[in-house]
Amino acid sequence: MVQRVKSGTTLFCLFVLALAFPAHAQVKIAYTSSHAKAGQPVPSECIEAGKSLVTQLNRFPRPDNWTFIIACDAKAWSNLKADAGLSFNGLDVYGATNLKNSTTLLSGDTLRGKDASVLTPEHLVAHELAHIVLKNYTIRADNEQQVESLAQGWLSRKTSTQEGQ
Ligand SMILES: [Zn+2]
Repeated sequence: MVQRVKSGTTLFCLFVLALAFPAHAQVKIAYTSSHAKAGQPVPSECIEAGKSLVTQLNRFPRPDNWTFIIACDAKAWSNLKADAGLSFNGLDVYGATNLKNSTTLLSGDTLRGKDASVLTPEHLVAHELAHIVLKNYTIRADNEQQVESLAQGWLSRKTSTQEGQ
């Protein structure tokens, strides 16, 4: 999938998690940008989206040996979705998890809170992580209702902790 990213979209990898996670965590974050160029500084929207992802990954159960690919801008996300063949009958998609190749694709705009009226960054990440956690159980990980109900459980538990209950 990564190799098939269309020309014009630059894929670059940063191992930004060395400081954020223990060495054994083996979580990799890669970025695609519609305007990044080799040798140029990483676009600020990529950095911002990556920080948001790291923040959320520290709140919820996090997988080992997993790759997250962030499409930093709307055009990059559109290209990545098309390339991965993601279309749900015209519904908007903000993230997608492929259990077979241990990869999760995420919209950088959503991670930066631009879609918060529809989907907050924490909800997006909790939902995709729930897909990953449920693959280890007999429950079907592609059952959106079960996935979403696990994600909602995490989100509400986090809220009550914040409220000190
Ligand atoms: Zn889902």
